[in-house]
This record gives sequence, structure tokens and C-alpha cells, in this order.
Amino acid sequence: MRINQLLFGPAGVPITSPVRDSARAVSYVKKLGLGCMELEFVRGVRMGSYTARQVGEQAEKHGVVLSAHGPYYINLNSQDKAKIDASIKRVLDTARVASMAGGYSITFHAAYYMSMPKDKVYEIVKSHLKSIIRTLSKAGVRIWVRPETTGKQSQFGDVDELVKLSTELDMVMPCVDFAHLHARSNGRINTYKEFCEVLNRIEKSLGKEGLYNMHIHMSGIEYSSKGERNHLVLRESDMNYKDLLRALKNYKCRGVVISESPNIEADALLMKKFYEKLK
Ligand SMILES: [Zn+2]
Repeated sequence: MRINQLLFGPAGVPITSPVRDSARAVSYVKKLGLGCMELEFVRGVRMGSYTARQVGEQAEKHGVVLSAHGPYYINLNSQDKAKIDASIKRVLDTARVASMAGGYSITFHAAYYMSMPKDKVYEIVKSHLKSIIRTLSKAGVRIWVRPETTGKQSQFGDVDELVKLSTELDMVMPCVDFAHLHARSNGRINTYKEFCEVLNRIEKSLGKEGLYNMHIHMSGIEYSSKGERNHLVLRESDMNYKDLLRALKNYKCRGVVISESPNIEADALLMKKFYEKLK
């Protein structure tokens, strides 16, 4: 699946939605003027196939693109085999349910380094992802599987690691969380030039395809030297979303931009309106 423009939407059912169920929230997202919505399976994949199909029907009817966020309890580098198996199952369940809803893309936080060398963790994550992709492919599930750039240095997932995984594995692409990159680098990656460096890095390895097939997360963010602390509303943070949107526009990026700010849909609309005014 490809998207021919940059769409903006909330991480989950909008706060101001009169209904709390995902299927009916889709039409509300459309009514707000937004183009996508992320299904939040962060506390577990509890959506059944019947609901997933209902959500998918509504998304198709209203032309809203769906993505999904997998559970937080995923660590493909756990020392405990049972935890690895459970992590793999959580990624598979996220992909299966999102695919039933006609989803475009799924994302998740792949692993922790657990004080191990980065290159070793990379190989472990890669081998598990490879088996995940194989299982999905055998089951006929076609959806982009995206490890996310994470907000802490103790977590696997910097831009280089994700770009490399994407070049080496079929159906794998990065989910670029710019707030996480900003927090992970303790306040860097927040200027037009630095945003362009991230996009250049993606283009260099993945080509234009990397820029035309993006899944982006954004929010304001509070951080310390250890990285991410919590998400903030954009205007109450130092996140330079305006220059990020300028960079995304100038590089002609396409795909989805999901707002994970505490006011989810308000910041999605703020970004969309600013982006549309850019020349
Ligand atoms: Zn995330």
C-alpha cells in the first residue's frame, strides 16, 4: 500500500470524539479534517476480528488510512525465551489485526540493549524480525512492519539501525518518531538542518521510496540526559515542529504523521494546518 501525500491524524480515538469505539471514531477523524488514525494496542492487542473488519469498513468508507501501535511489552532481545516468544506474538497479533482492518502500517518499540553491544543486539532483533516477516508472508498478511526510533538510549532503535533493517528485510521500513530522536539525543535533532540530515540518511539507503513511504510520530516531549520522560503538547514544548514540517514538505515526504501529544487530535490539526500553508 502506498499513500500519495502526507496525512495527519491522532494516536487513538480523538479526545473530543463523542464515541469511544474505533469504528465510529473513524468518521469523527474525517469530520475533523484529518486523514489517518493509529489504533493503539499499547496495552495489548484486544481488538477482535469482527471489530477490526468494522473499523476497516469505516476507514474505507471515509478514506481514512489506519496504522497500529503494538504493545509496549515487547523486547526482542530479552534473555528469557518465553518473553521473546510473547514479544513475537504481540508483533504478529498487531500486524494480523491491523491488516484485517485494511491497515497501512504497524509500529512497535523492538527491544532493549540490556547492556549488550549494539551490533550484537542488531543481529538478534534482525533474526526475530525476519521470522516475523516470514510468518506474516506465509499467512498472506501484507502490511509494513516498522520498528520505531525510540526515546531512550537504553532502547534499540536509532535511525541507522532501523534504516539498515529496512534495507536488509522485505516489508520492513522505519517508523520515525522525531520527538523520540530529539529526546534520545538530549535536545539535538531539532533544527531544519538536523531534520534534513535524518531525511538524507533515509534517502541515501532507501532511496526516494524511503521518503515516499513514511510512518512518522510527533509530539512535544520532555527529556533528560537519559532520554524521554513524557510527551507534551507541541506549543508547551521546545519541539521545533515548524521546521520539521518544512523539511518534510521540501523532501516531498509521503505517508502518515501521527500526533502522540496529550491533546492528540489538536496537535494533528495544528501540524496539518501549518503544513498546508507552506509553499
Ligand atoms: Zn511508540
